[in-house]
Amino acid sequence: MFFTVSLYIALAVFAIGLLFKVSTWFRYSLSPAAANISSGKRVAAAAKGILLTVFSLKILTLLKVLVLEVLLQTRTLKESLLRWWMHMLIYGGFMLLLLMHALDKIVSVSLFSDYYATLNPFMFLRDLFGLMVMVGLALALYRRFFMKIPRLKTNPLDHYAIIILAVIMVSGFLLEGIKITSYTRYQEMVEAYGEAGDEEELKALESLWVKEYGVVSPELKGPFEDDVIEKGRELNESCISCHSRPQWAFLGYGTAKIIAPAAVALDEAGAPRFLWIIHFLACFIGLAYLPFSKMFHIIASPVSLLANAVMDPLTSDPANIATRQIMELDACTHCGTCTLRCSVGVVFEEIPNVNILPSEKIASLKRLASGKNISQQDIRTIQEGLYLCTNCLRCTGVCPVGINLQELWFSAREALLQKDCPELLILSPLSLYRGLMQPALPDDVYQKPIALINDVIVNRFKAIDQEHPTFPAQMDKGLKRTLDISAPGSTFSYCFTCKTCTSACPVVHNFEHPWEALGLVPHQIMHATALGLGDLIFSSKMLWACLGCYQCQQQCPQGVRVADVLYELKNLAFKQLKEPLSKG
Ligand code: SF4
Ligand code: SF4
Ligand code: SF4
Ligand code: SF4
Repeated sequence: MFFTVSLYIALAVFAIGLLFKVSTWFRYSLSPAAANISSGKRVAAAAKGILLTVFSLKILTLLKVLVLEVLLQTRTLKESLLRWWMHMLIYGGFMLLLLMHALDKIVSVSLFSDYYATLNPFMFLRDLFGLMVMVGLALALYRRFFMKIPRLKTNPLDHYAIIILAVIMVSGFLLEGIKITSYTRYQEMVEAYGEAGDEEELKALESLWVKEYGVVSPELKGPFEDDVIEKGRELNESCISCHSRPQWAFLGYGTAKIIAPAAVALDEAGAPRFLWIIHFLACFIGLAYLPFSKMFHIIASPVSLLANAVMDPLTSDPANIATRQIMELDACTHCGTCTLRCSVGVVFEEIPNVNILPSEKIASLKRLASGKNISQQDIRTIQEGLYLCTNCLRCTGVCPVGINLQELWFSAREALLQKDCPELLILSPLSLYRGLMQPALPDDVYQKPIALINDVIVNRFKAIDQEHPTFPAQMDKGLKRTLDISAPGSTFSYCFTCKTCTSACPVVHNFEHPWEALGLVPHQIMHATALGLGDLIFSSKMLWACLGCYQCQQQCPQGVRVADVLYELKNLAFKQLKEPLSKG
């Protein structure tokens, strides 16, 4: 009764959790393009997409991905042999245990007409699958706590996954071991199935089970006479059809041998029942909590891999892209591979913001997508992590579950910008990030950051009067003095206006008449700096359109650190603003 009620409660919680999690795939959104698409439309778009895929040649792609990437996990294998073994052992062993052991009354009984849990090869296989999970867990612990992988973070969800699996496995083997030794269980078995014999026969049978089946009797201890054992073997003939020797359950039998000295006391204290409760409760808790834990990736990762294999980011329905993105957040296994390979991961050692690390940013993006429990401070730290990303794509390339991380970063970054959360660094419409986003954005949204910069900074400084072009009367002596005390900043004075920097600048090359679009170009900014023309420099759009690509600096024959000087000038402009940019 207790078992049945607990099982149904666990199944009900699991089903509700599963429905809730899958519903978030259609309710939450990171992509600004899908912000106004209703959940109903997203479900319909997903159903249509699935039908179109299944009844097209893309089905072959799905089958290939299913075999290679889902079942054989070739992506993980490409990245790390250790992780592949760990995953295959845990995943393979656990699924086989679930089907052949936990669901034996449904699966094993249907597949094998001679199935009996205490017969071979089923006893041996059960322990073999259990051993696979244990070795996989040991590899996971070794990797997480002993390998010292740079910046690999272990969070409470990782701890939970390891602990719940370990409790299920260890309690399972202890239960198996204690059941082998249990005298109470032996007696129950004799009463239920044995043909009542005289005392001598019962003693012979018990002696055989003590000697060959690992039972620990409070009265009978070996060694036994050969003829007693022989007699016991004859009486045991009818039991052989449903009981193989326990040695085949090699882990349970090993455990039985270890606990044998305390077996009688444990049996009398009710340890078999206690361990049975622990084992089944751990299984039920694991099942009920699965949709809310990291283990949900068992479901989300394959779906995400399949979806990514057949979806084209440029042509797919934006509703489906938004759904896939939320699914991808659930598919993350928190393996840390992306963080290990991240081009800016090392920055975390100087700026301790976990959102710099792609594997940690996933959790923050989940909160951002849900729109709940997220403060302005949290948004700032997420944004910092997002804009420090160099868009190098390395994380996407190495993710073993094929998450399009690059697209997630872009969507989150754009979503925050469109919610009027300006980034600390200025986003030029010519920057790589904006360039990559251009096809997905309406023109006014695309131009918004630079329009914002013009409004709040450029127009606050006095530009050259186009009709009566004169330099501002007041020279800014402080400007030169400030740059002079900085090693990179002071190099502006080496400039002999050869224009090499301007010729190398991709921003300048983007315009037919750059001086009209940008005001001053790089070599002119260096010259204007030497003249102390602060207003002229700060009102120049070039300063704010600069991509920070460092081409100018690399090419300068005089060693002027042009890009660094531009950064220092931007900082000076902020300091000179009379009114603060924002209160946020
Ligand atoms: S995003 Fe991919 S690579 Fe990064 S932690 Fe998650 S599963 Fe691993
Ligand atoms: S794209 Fe960004 S997050 Fe990904 S590896 Fe490169 S720098 Fe790191
Ligand atoms: S390349 Fe160097 S020296 Fe030439 S104009 Fe630019 S900053 Fe001056
Ligand atoms: S860093 Fe130099 S070359 Fe690159 S955009 Fe800025 S001014 Fe142009």
